[in-house]
Amino acid sequence: MKICRFNDNRLGMVEGDAIADVTPALAVIPRYGYPLPNFDPLIANLEPLQKRILEIQAQAPRIPLAQATLLSPLANPGKIIAAPVNYQKHLEEVLNDKDLHHDVRINHIQKAGLFLKAPSSLVGAGQGVALRKLDRRNDHEVELAVVIGKAADNVSRDEALDYVAGYCIGLDITIRGPEERSFRKSPDSYTVLGPWLTTRDDIADPGRLDLEISVGGETRQKSNTSDLIMGVADLIEFASSFYTLHPGDVIITGTPAGVGPIRPGDVMHARIQGLGAMDCECYTFRKCSGA
Ligand code: MN
Repeated sequence: MKICRFNDNRLGMVEGDAIADVTPALAVIPRYGYPLPNFDPLIANLEPLQKRILEIQAQAPRIPLAQATLLSPLANPGKIIAAPVNYQKHLEEVLNDKDLHHDVRINHIQKAGLFLKAPSSLVGAGQGVALRKLDRRNDHEVELAVVIGKAADNVSRDEALDYVAGYCIGLDITIRGPEERSFRKSPDSYTVLGPWLTTRDDIADPGRLDLEISVGGETRQKSNTSDLIMGVADLIEFASSFYTLHPGDVIITGTPAGVGPIRPGDVMHARIQGLGAMDCECYTFRKCSGA
């Protein structure tokens, strides 16, 4: 099933070029009070939610996909976990380009470990990326994003995929420079997830998916997840050996070679096999006034 969030927090089931507006299905999600749980309520209740969606979808109103503003399929992830340099050719391109490594020692992922991005950096494809620090290079990174479906603590790679709720396209937007990754990659809107959540049962093998991104019609990155150094199951094993993964936690699995600059006005077009395609526009960050 392909589940999206759109417009003013509406819930949709994607069918071809249309969205069935199944917002009333959200009623199966319990109301949580203070203190809030450390999981995403929609993902933690995905099974009853999907059941309810199937019950009401035939009568649901349809709207054209092209007219919807797509939000992040996850509203409240506890952690956004990210893999650095997880494709061999990207590792080589970083090591060979001072604009990318900035004299910071780049380690192989097994040594470097994983890093975290602020959940407040998350937006959907329809919301766009508000670029900051325009005197520095801002880059696109297209990545397979894995959404965790149930609590995972010290999970072995053999059982790791049982803990997956689904997949989506991730964009790990990055300001290049010498600071810590989590700092340079966590401005508001610098994590894009979309276009929707594709549930695990729709993807036979996350280790064999074509992925690509173009900017202004020019292909920048094009690879297949079979080139990942640590695959999806390895990453779940690795991450869950350091901390518990909760429903709605996301792992963005790393980016292939071909990272490149984006500027205000650019439109990124990203596609991952089986997960759909999305356009995401870049604009100039402006501080909110009057708030
Ligand atoms: Mn990345």
